[in-house]
This record gives sequence, C-alpha cells and structure tokens, in this order.
Amino acid sequence: MSVHPAERADEAVSCRWTIDGMDCADCARTIESSVAGMPGVRSAVVNFGLGRLDVELESGSAKVEEVAGRVGALGYRVTPVAGRTLAVWTFDVAGMDCGDCARTIEAGVRHLPGVADAIVNFGAGTMQVEPGDGRLTRGAVMAAVADAGYRATVRGESSSAPVLPWWRKRRVIETGLALVLWLAGFALEHSGSAAWQFGAPYLLATALAGYPVARAAWFALKARRPDMNLLMTIAALGALAIGEWEEGASVLILFSIGLLLQSMTLDRTRHAIQALLSLTPREATVRRGGFDMRVPVEEVDVGESVFVLPGERVPVDGRVLSGRSAVDQSTITGESVPVEVEPGSVVFAGSINGDGAVTVEATKAATDSTLARIIELVEHAQGSRAPAQAFVDRFAAVYTPIVVGVAVLLATVVPAIVGDWRDWFFRALVLLVVACPCALVISTPVALVASIGSASRRGVLFKGGSAIEALAGVRTVAFDKTGTLTEGRPAVVTVRSFGRFDEETLLARAAAVESGSSHPIAAGIVHEARKRALSIPRAIDAEGFPGRGAAATVGAERVTAGNRRLFGGLPDMVERALAEVEAEGATAVLVGSGDTIDGLIGVVDPVRPAAAGVMQELDRLGVRTVMLTGDNEITAHRIAAQAGVADVRARLLPEEKVDGVRSLQAAGAVAMIGDGVNDAPALATADVGIAMGVAGTDVAIEAADVALIRDDLRQLPRAIMLARATLSIIRQNIAFSLATKGVFLALTAAGVTNLWLAVLADMGTSLLVTANSLRLAREPGPRANVGTHAASTHPDR
Ligand code: ADP
Ligand code: MG
Repeated sequence: MSVHPAERADEAVSCRWTIDGMDCADCARTIESSVAGMPGVRSAVVNFGLGRLDVELESGSAKVEEVAGRVGALGYRVTPVAGRTLAVWTFDVAGMDCGDCARTIEAGVRHLPGVADAIVNFGAGTMQVEPGDGRLTRGAVMAAVADAGYRATVRGESSSAPVLPWWRKRRVIETGLALVLWLAGFALEHSGSAAWQFGAPYLLATALAGYPVARAAWFALKARRPDMNLLMTIAALGALAIGEWEEGASVLILFSIGLLLQSMTLDRTRHAIQALLSLTPREATVRRGGFDMRVPVEEVDVGESVFVLPGERVPVDGRVLSGRSAVDQSTITGESVPVEVEPGSVVFAGSINGDGAVTVEATKAATDSTLARIIELVEHAQGSRAPAQAFVDRFAAVYTPIVVGVAVLLATVVPAIVGDWRDWFFRALVLLVVACPCALVISTPVALVASIGSASRRGVLFKGGSAIEALAGVRTVAFDKTGTLTEGRPAVVTVRSFGRFDEETLLARAAAVESGSSHPIAAGIVHEARKRALSIPRAIDAEGFPGRGAAATVGAERVTAGNRRLFGGLPDMVERALAEVEAEGATAVLVGSGDTIDGLIGVVDPVRPAAAGVMQELDRLGVRTVMLTGDNEITAHRIAAQAGVADVRARLLPEEKVDGVRSLQAAGAVAMIGDGVNDAPALATADVGIAMGVAGTDVAIEAADVALIRDDLRQLPRAIMLARATLSIIRQNIAFSLATKGVFLALTAAGVTNLWLAVLADMGTSLLVTANSLRLAREPGPRANVGTHAASTHPDR
C-alpha cells in the first residue's frame, strides 16, 4: 500500500530505508526494537529478506536523520529509499558559490507549503527536502530553487548511492587484513616464536574483525536483545581470557567472512525486485498548451496523452489512443513474446515499445502503475512469514536460552565439582557458539524471498508465505468456467426473435442492457452489435444479477437479459428454442421485459487450447480438478469434456459456488481459480484463491492469495510446482540446520570440538541454507530462456 503522508489523518510520516550489511535475521530484530524504542517513532518494521526498514514517525517529533543515525550506530549502512513512501528527497544543486546562498535556498524551500524540513549541504552541493504532506511536488521545489537563481535536479529515484565493488567495501578490507594477520600469527606461533610475537598479530586480527561484531553486540545488549553478535563476542573474549589467542581471533574472522558472504549473496536477491522499478522511465513526453514537452512521470495527469517513441519504455499505465506497435511486457507479465497493441489496447508502465510510435492516454498516476503495485505486493509478500517459520521461532526462543544456560553451568558449577576449570570453560564457550540459531533463523525467509521474487518475474504473485504453504498442499483445484477454462470471449452464434422485434433490434436492445455489465457474455453481445453496426439505444439504471444476468431501462421499458433464473415460468415455445440452442452447446441469453420474453441470443465461449494439457499436468501432480459454473448443464459438460475436467457442478449461483468449495474441502485443501472479479466470494472461501489474468486489475490482484498476471492457464501447475519446491527447500533447510546443531551439541558434550570448528559449521550451514534457497531463484522460467523457447511460452489466447 502506498502510504502517502497526506493520506494519513493522524499525520504520521512513513519513511523507508534500505539497510546494507544486515546478515542475520537476529540483528534485524535488534534494529527493529532499537528504533521502535525511539521517542516519536510509532512503529518500526525490519524486513530482513529485503534489507528494508519501514518506520512510521509522528510528524514533527522525531527527525528522519535520527533514525538513520541510530541504525548507523548499530553498525549498518542505511540509504533512504526515495519516491513512493520515503519522506526525504535529495536534489543536486548546481551553481552554489557561497555558504550564505546555501542558507538562502534552504530558507526559501522551507517556506514552501508542504515542506517539513530542508537542509542544503553547501560542500556536497546537495539539498535534502522532507515533505510534510502530499501537497509538495519535486517540481515545486525545483522551481523555488530556480527563483533563488540556482538549478536543482532530482537525485536518483531509489537509493542511488554509488555501489562500491565488493573488494572495496570497508568490512571486506578489514576482514581480509584480519585474515592476513591471523595467518602471520599462526606461522609465528608454529615456528617457535615467543608468545608476544604471535600474540600481537592475533590480537590485532581479533580487534579488526571483532570491532563491528562487538559494536553490534553492545547495542544488542543495550536493547536487551541478546543476539548472535553478543554470543560470538563473549565466546571470543572468553577465548582470549584463557589465552586461546588463535581461537579467539579465528572465531571472529570466520564469523565475519560468513556474514560477508551471506550479505553478498543476499544483496543481489534483495535488489532484484526493486531494480524492476528503475525500468520505468523517469520522464514522459506530453503535449501541453500545444507544445510537446518532457515532464517527470509523477506529473503526468490521468487522462493526459503521452507519446511513446519506438524502442522507448512506456512511462505510464494507459490505453492506446493512436498508433500500432508490438509491446514487450515481460517486466510485468514475465512473457517475453511481444503483444500487439492497437487503439484501445492497454499498455503498462515499464514495458518496451516495439517499432511503432504510439500515443497513450494515461489511466493511472505513475505511482499507482501496475508495476509499482506488483513490486509493492511482492516486497510485502517477501517480508511475510511462512507458517513453517512459527515453528522455527518457537524453537529458537527456547533452544538458545537453554544452551546458554547449560554453557553457564559448564563454566561454573561443573568445574566446581569435577575440577579442570579451563577445559570446562572452553567447552562452555563452544556451546555459546552452538547456541546461535543463525542458520535456522534464515532457513525460511531467504527461501521466501528467492521464491516469491523469481515467481513474480515469471508472472506469478504469491501473496506471502502462507499462500505458498497452502498452495503446496492443495488437493483439489476448483475452476470457474467462463474466462478460466474458456477463453472468456464468448461469441454470438444465434439470435432468435419471437416476433415483437426483428433480430437486429433485439440484439441492439440486449447490447444496450449489457453495456452496463462487466460479464464476458455481456462483452460478447455488445461486440456483436457493434460488429453489425447496429445503433445501440441508450440504457440507464443498469443493474447486475451475479450468476443470472443484467437489466437496464431502455426507452420506457425495463429490459432484462440473462438465463432462465431471471424470468418466471417459460412458455413452451421458449423452452423449445432454449433447448435447441443449448443442444448446440451454446449458452442461451434470454432477452425480455417483465414476464414477456422477446427472444434469445446464443453465445459460445471456446475452451482454452491449453486447458486439456493443464488438467493432465495437474493430474500428474496428484491434484483433483473440479469445475464450478453458473452455466447450464449441457454447456458445462461439453466444456468439461473438452478441457478434461471430470467433476462438474453446473447452474450454481455465486453463493452456491461458495458451498461447492466448502464441500470439496472435506477432501483436503482446495484452491479456487477464477477471474477474481465475479468469483471473489468463492476465491475467499477456498484455502487458496487464485486470480488469473490480473494485469491491470487491482481488485483481482487484491482479492487473491495467488495472482497469475498473465491470462495463461499454464501458469497454474507452474505455480503449484514452485510452491511445492519452496516448501520442500524450507523443510530441507530446517532439517539440515537442526541436524548440524544436534551433531555439534553431541560433539561438544564429548569434548571433541573447538571454537573455530563450531563457528565454521555454523557459518557453513548458514551459507548452505542460503545457497539452497537461492536455487529457487534460478529455476528455469520464461525469463531465463528469452527468445529460445518462444513457442512454449506463448500464452494460450
Ligand atoms: P461461470 O461459472 O461460467 O463463470 P457466472 O456465474 O459468471 O458463470 O454466470 C453464470 C450464468 O449467468 C451465465 O452462464 C449466464 O447464463 C448468466 N449470466 C451472468 N451474467 C450475465 C450477463 N451479464 N448477461 C447474460 N447472462 C449472464
Ligand atoms: Mg465467472
């Protein structure tokens, strides 16, 4: 949800940062509780998977910089994410030549309506503006600066601090140095040097590698949230205290290396989704006052015409007004085969225009684009928790304190009884390391980030960990018929009049009623009337009857179009005509007013060519298929036979579809798939609601647990397989991390491990768990084989 400061009645300001170097889920919680405890902070949520911090500030109380400072002090680098939610805009200001003019600009901008704060940095030539509410635009700020005689330009939209190559990052250099020192110490120690000679490099190495860990540990302590940093620090200090220099240093070095590797692998996955947003152009060409001009996309108004040149990216969601082209929508749908567009077609921000120039009418503000919505949903989903995580959290919550407790006993009580203080103390230190639930804690979130991210790039939106877990366990899939098993483009095949009107008038009257309905059948009838160039009379007071039809007032009469449920008893003649039309496999739409029926229209909606293949695949996956439809028995059975669905329930009203889903649930979890608009109640009742073909329809995306962006049925088995793969990887991760912990507990009890082995095992497990999770991101998909498997990725339209 885009929480714009202005939309909040209680005047909270939402800010968002990316956090670099957050390498353990545990430290995420430390940051969270530390920031949440600051005065003026309403809530702080850290999304470990994404490396993201979302904070709600009471406006005017706490300063954005203070939050950033606090997180910085914990040892993490934060970068504000500007744009949608963050309250800081950064501008480059050119031409500032004196410190005093900087002050002037600052004062000028501060006085703009809607500015909460402005800070000009003379040395850096930048300005940071914190909008206090939604009135402020970047354009207004730039104009104010221009008034003062200087030029301001917007800094990179999203966190665009220059990214250092990995080998130039400070912590990498420090850890590298520490490693070199350690090796030197090791060489000296084993070549018979004096203790101070090898002790010095060991100590230096410990300090270098340990400083950031210790600092994080200190803050964890202050926040009363003991975390892995604290455990590692105590272990290392303990080792130093008993003269185990080599061990103490190696604990911290291995720990640092592990964290570095971890954050390097994670950062790429984290930024993958947000990178998509950078694919939307920052500017658009519009015509204003007779001139074509480039304006920031945020300033394009809904309804305005935007020109898109060949090869350009489409800047806003919109409808094509003129021109023809083929548009590559893979950013949104994951489908790399370009889609032909013509006047009337819908285009999405972020897609690439082909060879033709087109003019597009903006239908959404830039910040509400489908791509922006998708990215927001994906990020939200990635931060959600899988039910499996609950187990992990519960486990960690008892495991760590118990093991730490045992360690304390080993260091105190046991040596008091059996002596050999030094040996037991050392074993206690090893236990502290083993007490770290690192690998266990990251076993699910990393898998979720990888899976949800890669699914979204293939046009499948999982709404969260629970949706994945539920989908993986689905036993039955219930299909809506129209638009799901069928193409959803019913064509008129017969028009029969019973005498009162000629066929054309009957069709035109039906079309008048149906213009007010969003049902695919309605679209088919309107389309036919247009095709025949009929003049469609005006209709008012349109009304829809879900699962039955529609009505509207045409001229002086209330006209109804729909199935028999909308009318009383039917005369024999109508019954006969109805039976004939249905026998041809068509759906009959009766047209009449009051109790008189003036005629009927037969429509046929072809089955999707991919349907049969998809049913076979679901069968192979052990998933039962059922069709739930409001249509008549004959049509329903014909469609089911063609699609290969064995179980058919016909003539259902929307609420009866809900009952249908409930009865299927007796045999295990049920997924219901539909267009997400007509079928919302059934989708909501099912264990997993799946909406298909949702590109551009926010309601449908919102209503579902899983949304298939493309109108392609074959995404369904893919989504199920991906969900199952995700769940099994999560289980492997949990089992593997538990097993290593178990082994090390046993080894420590037997006294055969040492500190560095324990750390190595822990970091190794964490890395393996991460690597295992990232396999989900690499699963072959349409994205991976652009151009080569074009035929197999073509949607089944
Ligand atoms: P499905 O299960 O095929 O998606 P719906 O529940 O959407 O079916 O609709 C069931 C039936 O209701 C349709 O087969 C049709 O007979 C009738 N119907 C619904 N809406 C309309 C409409 N706008 N115009 C005519 N008939 C309609
Ligand atoms: Mg339907």
